[in-house]
Amino acid sequence: MTFLERTTKPDRFRAWKGDMEADYRYTSGVAGERFFTALRDTGKLLAARCPSCDIRYLPPRMYCEDCFGPLADWSAVDGPATVETVTVVHVDAKGTPLPAPQVWAILRWKGIRGGLVHRLATAPERAKPGLAVRPVLRPRPERVGNITDILHFAP
Ligand SMILES: [Zn+2]
Repeated sequence: MTFLERTTKPDRFRAWKGDMEADYRYTSGVAGERFFTALRDTGKLLAARCPSCDIRYLPPRMYCEDCFGPLADWSAVDGPATVETVTVVHVDAKGTPLPAPQVWAILRWKGIRGGLVHRLATAPERAKPGLAVRPVLRPRPERVGNITDILHFAP
């Protein structure tokens, strides 16, 4: 059987098993750099607005998803985030039980497209969609310019 012939039995192709190292490094990009620098230096969450569509984006990006125009109008979000959905985590990424359950949520801001996934500092039974929360930041000297500069969100 050649490679171009259709098969439903992939084990019939010549193959060998092994491990291949693959390391990736993703940058935050121009908009992400500006967002994280502002988070580190000012403690504010920036959104970018499309002047044509009047859509604000958080996380900010360079171009509008709707009209592809450049987003040049940056401003800090005000007001609390709203919990959209939550999950309670009992094990870490390796399956090791956590000392205490963690609550994670998808957070959205009114009038802003997008949102963040972050930890909630609240008891699992209090974490409900619709809960208003605000970010709790690390002290300024401890911030490094990434999402962990936000310790968690709290009601
Ligand atoms: Zn637009």
